Amino acid sequence: MTDSDRLYGLFDRYYLPVYRPRRIVLERGQGSRVWDRDGREYIDFGAGIAVNALGHAHPALIEALTAQAGRLWHTSNVFITEPPLRLAEALVDASGFAQRVYLCNSGAEANEAAIKLARKWATSQGRVPERRVILTFEGSFHGRTLAAVTATAQPKYHEGFEPLPPGFRYSAFNDLAAAEAAMAAGDVCAVLVEPVQGEGGVTPAQEAFLAGLRALCDRHGALLMFDEIQCGMARTGHLFAWHGYGVKPDVVTLAKALGSGFPIGAMLVGDAASEVMQFGAHGTTFGGNPLAAAVAGAALRELSSPAIAANVARQGQALRDGLAALDDELALFVDIRGRGLMLGAQLRDTYAGKAGEILDRCIGQGLLLLQAGPDVLRFVPALNITDADVAEGLDRLREALRGFVHG
Ligand SMILES: *Cc1c(COP(=O)(O)O)cnc(C)c1O
Repeated sequence: MTDSDRLYGLFDRYYLPVYRPRRIVLERGQGSRVWDRDGREYIDFGAGIAVNALGHAHPALIEALTAQAGRLWHTSNVFITEPPLRLAEALVDASGFAQRVYLCNSGAEANEAAIKLARKWATSQGRVPERRVILTFEGSFHGRTLAAVTATAQPKYHEGFEPLPPGFRYSAFNDLAAAEAAMAAGDVCAVLVEPVQGEGGVTPAQEAFLAGLRALCDRHGALLMFDEIQCGMARTGHLFAWHGYGVKPDVVTLAKALGSGFPIGAMLVGDAASEVMQFGAHGTTFGGNPLAAAVAGAALRELSSPAIAANVARQGQALRDGLAALDDELALFVDIRGRGLMLGAQLRDTYAGKAGEILDRCIGQGLLLLQAGPDVLRFVPALNITDADVAEGLDRLREALRGFVHG
């Protein structure tokens, strides 16, 4: 029995079995390379589910973390510290729309805050509970807390958790006519949408769809809320995904890359609703603690740089070209889509359901890759990934895919 086998045993024995991690034990990372405890090296095309946007062990993040770690970790929101205030200021300045920020610890919490804010806002306008419906879209993912998972319009995440909280309605993604019909009754108070759907298959919203949702929200007096938890923080080549669409939201939620590996989430609120949540309306013990905020502040500075935007464009194109070449050789994909460094390659019908098997083969070749559902390979590497790491990762992917196709 190896050391790693003993650790798998701990997982099997003690962990609530809600995850099915691949059987390697990761120990150390540097940039876009990770090593397991047996010394095997991997190229990281998954970045901890689009979290490690600056790769592993980035010096600016280590500096921010260790400097703050020696000063003050946590005070609760009963007291003020500087890092979260500076972070809120920087987020508002960078956002192009927000007036105020609420800091929390995860994506689900940020969406939970947005859902509560939407209802409070509607209440303040005198709308009765039946007229405070939140519209979300098929294929979406908004998190696992009870309200966020109800907002997630995928039945597989709901099963067995009924009764789900009322007040949510689902409509087809990228179908403006369907959204118009879903809002026709005038009972929708907010629309929550990912500008680029992540978990649901890496599907970008069409520009006309987001613009149309903005118009519908204006017509019906509803808030437009963008879940940028996965697609935000420069992943699409714009600091905020909506900057690339030019459709202004009322609320944006962030998490994942915001802390670039340290847990933190945020809800940004624009003019329309920035004053509705008042003293006592919401809160969190940990949210915005100085340690998390110091790291996020450093991450935000790095991710705002033109060099990152340029690298996202460059490596996004390199990955697309590489995937297209693989498809020419192996005829695997029906679609290669996404924005910036958030790409999905959808498998042909012959290979439907096989994404997981391909990921196993990638591990064998020294590549960490993700899926987005059973049929889509998902590429969300660090935004500072190098030419060499993209090229090497594509080589390893090719070996994995050749093995998969030819056996
Ligand atoms: C990951 C994700 C969430 C949930 O974030 P957690 O930190 O896991 O709670 C919500 N929305 C989107 C779009 C996500 O990708």
